Amino acid sequence: MISSLGMGSPGLLGTCRWRRATTIAPGDAPSTTARGRRAARGAGRARVDPPRAMGERRRAMLQSTRSVEERLRRALGDRLRAREPLHHHTTFRIGGPADWFFAATTADELTRALRTAREAGLPVFLLGGGSNLLVSDAGFRGLVVRNAIETLEFDGAAVHVGAGHDLLELIYRCRDRGLAGLEFAAGIPGSVGGALYGNAGCYGRDIGSLTIECTHATPDGAAVETRPASWYRFAYRDSRLKREPRVLLSALLQLARGDPAAIRAEIEEKLEIRRVKHPQWRIEPTAGSYFKNLPPDWQMPGAKHSPGTRRVAAGQLLDECGCRGLRVGGAMVYEKHANIIVNVGHATAADVLALAAEMKRRVRERFGVELEEEVMYLGERPGDERPRA
Ligand SMILES: Cc1cc2nc3c(=O)[nH]c(=O)nc-3n(C[C@H](O)[C@H](O)[C@H](O)COP(=O)(O)OP(=O)(O)OC[C@H]3O[C@@H](n4cnc5c(N)ncnc54)[C@H](O)[C@@H]3O)c2cc1C
Repeated sequence: MISSLGMGSPGLLGTCRWRRATTIAPGDAPSTTARGRRAARGAGRARVDPPRAMGERRRAMLQSTRSVEERLRRALGDRLRAREPLHHHTTFRIGGPADWFFAATTADELTRALRTAREAGLPVFLLGGGSNLLVSDAGFRGLVVRNAIETLEFDGAAVHVGAGHDLLELIYRCRDRGLAGLEFAAGIPGSVGGALYGNAGCYGRDIGSLTIECTHATPDGAAVETRPASWYRFAYRDSRLKREPRVLLSALLQLARGDPAAIRAEIEEKLEIRRVKHPQWRIEPTAGSYFKNLPPDWQMPGAKHSPGTRRVAAGQLLDECGCRGLRVGGAMVYEKHANIIVNVGHATAADVLALAAEMKRRVRERFGVELEEEVMYLGERPGDERPRA
């Protein structure tokens, strides 16, 4: 069977079976075995009339699967993976399989993957550290490209870093050189590219404010461009990339010379605060704060502060709505932080969506405001998102 399909590995055969199971209904194709033909006669059919159109459709489908695979393999080689479970690649530890998965370690590999997917008509998703992501239980029908470009080059107090570089590792490397600026972000998981995409930050600071310029590829992989930070329109948990997709390849960040002991102390302090207040995602899988804080002009009813001075934390509203400890299936609101959902055991994306819907409902009914998700969702949504309990 492997040779007749021209496929090279059991994993790929698995993909093929799965495609058939989900797209061809049992009985659509004519039975080709003697036993099958006897069974059909026994079922009272005078003659087995093969539905030719269905057979042709199946052949066409197999051919197109094979041609997509051949294209991808030719361009990306043996590191291309089929049916890769995405829960291995998210800090939530949730998510079904990606049809295809490739970790690109250079800009050339990454743009080649984008171009090939475009030529094959495959949807592409660009993955960083998977720490701000909820992936559908059904996974993703297309190619997931993980940005694994981890280049690092210092130029005085500036650093040129690959977008796939781990953010905390970058902070440590800067610390080792006595370069200050990024300490506030110690403990934010994920890659530099993911941080720039959502302008990650905390304590009123964000990565966009340290950015001089970035280099990105267009989604079809055809062009690579370098643009100044202003082009990206960094704002609170936001950048232009959310509306005009580009794939970040690298960034140039401006740091400042600092006292190594003070830099070290600040990093340790930030990590300690997180250890106490936040879940450790390797033990209690999570994607961090689930909802964004409120817009600057939104004011807590009866609060003293004037609008625009600071954002009201989503966690504060969720707390007042009694959300801590709420649970749907394996998804639970963290006991120490009402804006964090943790996977306490075999949570599904459907569990998380149902729990988040309940949290939003409570806030809407109590405060008349609609919370906006900070965590991104990948894949199809289940039909029913109502809370089970
Ligand atoms: C325990 C915990 C604490 C957290 N604390 C904070 C916090 O304090 N502040 C904060 O802002 N966030 C926080 N987060 C959320 C998350 O860590 C950040 O948003 C992080 O920057 C996401 O980076 P990532 O590489 O994991 O992105 P991913 O989750 O992989 O991707 C997120 C989005 O970015 C896009 N993307 C990724 N890489 C690129 C690229 N190279 N080019 C273009 N698009 C790209 C993806 O397509 C996706 O749409 C926390 C998460 C956890 C689990």
